[in-house]
Amino acid sequence: MENEECTSCGRNLRAAETFVEFDCPKCGETISRCGKCKKLAREYECPECGFTGP
Ligand SMILES: [Zn+2]
Ligand SMILES: [Zn+2]
Repeated sequence: MENEECTSCGRNLRAAETFVEFDCPKCGETISRCGKCKKLAREYECPECGFTGP
């Protein structure tokens, strides 16, 4: 695990039941998001380049 916090809500992923990791489509940085934000389809923001997406 590269990032320990959900990029959408800032929740600690070690405390989350589920989470997903994927690469930023723009810069390839690993983005982590908790299962709750994934389910709610919250926007994410890449911590590296600021790219936002659904
Ligand atoms: Zn979250
Ligand atoms: Zn990026």
